[in-house]
Amino acid sequence: MTAIDGLPPLREVIRDHDLVAKKQLGQNFLLDLNLTAKIARAAGDLAGHDILEVGPGPGGLTRGLLAEGARKVLAIEKDPRCMAALGEIARHYPGRLEVINGDALDVDISQHLRAPYKIAANLPYNVGTELLVRWLTPKEWPPQWDSLTLMFQREVAERIVAQPGDKHYGRLAILAQWRAQARIVMSLPPEAFTPAPKVHSAVVHLKALPAPRYSADPAILSRVVAAGFNQRRKMLRASLKSVAPDIEAKLEAAGIAPTERAERITIEGFCKLARVIAEG
Ligand code: SAM
Repeated sequence: MTAIDGLPPLREVIRDHDLVAKKQLGQNFLLDLNLTAKIARAAGDLAGHDILEVGPGPGGLTRGLLAEGARKVLAIEKDPRCMAALGEIARHYPGRLEVINGDALDVDISQHLRAPYKIAANLPYNVGTELLVRWLTPKEWPPQWDSLTLMFQREVAERIVAQPGDKHYGRLAILAQWRAQARIVMSLPPEAFTPAPKVHSAVVHLKALPAPRYSADPAILSRVVAAGFNQRRKMLRASLKSVAPDIEAKLEAAGIAPTERAERITIEGFCKLARVIAEG
């Protein structure tokens, strides 16, 4: 029995359900329920909120979210071996945990959760960035979610919060920070996980802004940023040549020297350039 919820400790759950971690599913489990409760608290006030959790595994973070007062958790897990353990948690919290055995990339969650919901996950490394990009690029803004609290490899976390001039600054930083406030709220060493991964991890908290920081057409902005960082060592007048005619004049109209490189341009600068390009 554990103090947090009276359910068995996670080591017992893993042993009883024979949940030997599978590398191809990105399985590095958190077994310390004090730690998972801390991650749940980093998601903010959970009372009255629905939560999406991707990849609950044996349910450590799921239990943290429920113990911290989430109204409802929708947990999507690909590995069918985890279903029995998650079923035990669902019985312990009647009506508050819905489990889907499936691929998070395929499930339409809008039918299961009340917006604005929160997303919290210790993400499988192989689909983590793809899910983040999807959550950051909905058809309309503000999105259905209000905050994302996500565990990543430390290097990915640094790419999300990077500032102009940082070595990690690039597409992900601009995508994340254009319409959300992003910060690293926790760092974890490999030993926090079972089995221990090779790299350090970090939890990033992203809060959706009601509107983008600076106006820009999302498709044009995405094109400009992709072209700029695809050849990040090149000057913008060369890397953006294929994006629009007369790119030197457009860069100048946006207040950006054509000899600059993408890694030094602020989000405001990229948005201004996207607006100049939109004017034609
Ligand atoms: N949340 C658990 C924890 O913190 O201990 C497990 C985290 S583990 C890093 C990632 C989990 O995501 C695994 O349980 C894995 O089976 C699951 N997973 C991997 N790919 C998935 C996908 N495409 N959709 C849903 N779950 C997935």
